[in-house]
Amino acid sequence: MWRAPARHSEGLALRYTTCVIHEIRAKTLLSRVSGIDTWFGLDFGVNLYRGCQHHCIYCDSRSQCYGNDRFDEDVLVKANAIDILRGELRRKRARGIVGTGSMNDPYMPLEEKERLTERALDVIAEHGFGVHVITKSTLVLRDVALLQKIARRSTAAVSLTVTTADDDLARRIEPGAPPPSERFRALRELANAGIEARVALMPVLPFLEDSWDNVRAIVERASECGVMAIVASFGVTLRDRQRDYFYARLDEHFPGLRERYEAQYGDRYVCQAPGGEVLRTRFEALCAERGIRTSARPLLAPSAVEPRLLD
Ligand code: SF4
Repeated sequence: MWRAPARHSEGLALRYTTCVIHEIRAKTLLSRVSGIDTWFGLDFGVNLYRGCQHHCIYCDSRSQCYGNDRFDEDVLVKANAIDILRGELRRKRARGIVGTGSMNDPYMPLEEKERLTERALDVIAEHGFGVHVITKSTLVLRDVALLQKIARRSTAAVSLTVTTADDDLARRIEPGAPPPSERFRALRELANAGIEARVALMPVLPFLEDSWDNVRAIVERASECGVMAIVASFGVTLRDRQRDYFYARLDEHFPGLRERYEAQYGDRYVCQAPGGEVLRTRFEALCAERGIRTSARPLLAPSAVEPRLLD
């Protein structure tokens, strides 16, 4: 059952959850994913907002190439998004999976009031497309009935991003998002509702989240919750002002860690966890043992969507 998402409640977290909200008008919305999407199996991407209220310290959307100078200060609401999306989906000849959640979280706190994601799901259902939602928020549970409606004709998958099983660590690295314990609860409810519940285990921050204990805890909790697939990346990417922001937060919350990053990676973009290959091998083996897939593409066929109950 849906209830308002629990959030980290201390002053530290609240400091990061205030943003100025502006309305803008979008010209286009749907973008074609070029080639094969090896992370999420998407055919199209859609962003209903710009900026994000979750303020994860590692977020790539702060990178200069995306041109969002005030990523952490402003959230832009695409007020005409639903009309544009409806027109664009109507004109598509081929159906496919529409993804949302790559540049911002479609269930950030303001979605509770704005309801753009909810209305977008309704339009996606109306036009017979599939959907893959990527989020860190339990607010997605509000829209289970819409996801079930999509799944009757196509595919409906939800990936909850979980980078650590430790709520206290998450409070420092993902200060505006609901804690991982709540995300696991959401996964269980999605699985019970017959939605393809998945985990995006990415990034795995070197020296903070790259222990086998952390990875094993995430896989085991996911397995208990009925998760069907986990896609993992053992490392993080860092560049320009995204790196500056990340390092400033390391200085604030993890003194001395910036220096370790600088020594290990210099100005490299791809920062693989030092034991990443070993972690990957153990991760794949544990997932296989638990019957959890590690592939990108959502696979639930419409006929497979039957609610099932987990303890
Ligand atoms: S939820 Fe996603 S988009 Fe939002 S700040 Fe975190 S990583 Fe960035």
